[in-house]
Amino acid sequence: MRKMIVLLVVAALGVWRLWPLPEAVIPPGQALPAAQAPATLRFALLKTGAATTLEAMVVAGGSLFRPTAIGHVAVLVEHPAGRFLFDSGLGTAIDTQFGTEMAFWAKPIFAYRQVRPAVQQLRDAGVDAPDRIFLSHAHWDHASALGDFPQAEVWVPDAERDTALHGRPPAFLPSQFSSPTLRWHPFRFDGPAVAGFPASLDLFGDGSVVLLPLPGHTAGSTGLLLSLADGRRYFFVGDTVWNHRGIDQPAPKFSISSLIVDADRDATWQAVLALRGLRDANPGLQIIPAHDSSVHDTLGYFPEYVTAAAR
Ligand SMILES: [Zn+2]
Repeated sequence: MRKMIVLLVVAALGVWRLWPLPEAVIPPGQALPAAQAPATLRFALLKTGAATTLEAMVVAGGSLFRPTAIGHVAVLVEHPAGRFLFDSGLGTAIDTQFGTEMAFWAKPIFAYRQVRPAVQQLRDAGVDAPDRIFLSHAHWDHASALGDFPQAEVWVPDAERDTALHGRPPAFLPSQFSSPTLRWHPFRFDGPAVAGFPASLDLFGDGSVVLLPLPGHTAGSTGLLLSLADGRRYFFVGDTVWNHRGIDQPAPKFSISSLIVDADRDATWQAVLALRGLRDANPGLQIIPAHDSSVHDTLGYFPEYVTAAAR
């Protein structure tokens, strides 16, 4: 069975490579407003899982022969006014969740290696668990560890909570949302438009930690824009792209992967183009896909933090 699936996927990859990529009309991006970031704002990537696949599986036009490393990370953000996780990564219950609920045909496609759940990494380092988790979106590989943080509120836009509660495998695993202790905190982007995004949510009121809507991959997909005191800026864009090549070329995901995971393929592609325009208009802005280990590796992993350079 597994061989059959792999053969089918490789055949489909071969066919897809004969097709043209969609037209890439990059909209002009706008400059991001200045932030008043506190000197102690910092973040760390907690690597909770990994996988290796072919580049052609993650980005249209990618090589059929070049392997690409996938990471499942939770991002710990520490601001003097509050701490939170952005995505939860693969949690302590991932093997049970995946084993019992994932569609059989999707298991080879989404196979993972567990590294270490975020809750255990934090405990090992003597770091308190945060009391808020924001999700880039509620797919299984981002929401797996919610049950490991029962004290935390789970912040997602209304649309994402509704989608999650009605979601089905392979994208959503219902057991991840079935706990009666899960503390949803749906939110609205009730802040002003920012650099072409129609609305925003400035978490601490200083422009250093801003959530922006990125609908497409899911209805409530959310990006996290972090600005450090030294001026460096990072945009965590969830699964809008899986690989930095998606922005560089720009290119959508491999068509079959996109059919499986993107709720709205056109909206996802428009979001990719908008991100490219934003990056072009903001030199130095680093766009961080949720699963691109080649990008994560450059930032390092918890217990190492990315901090503002001392002045
Ligand atoms: Zn994902």
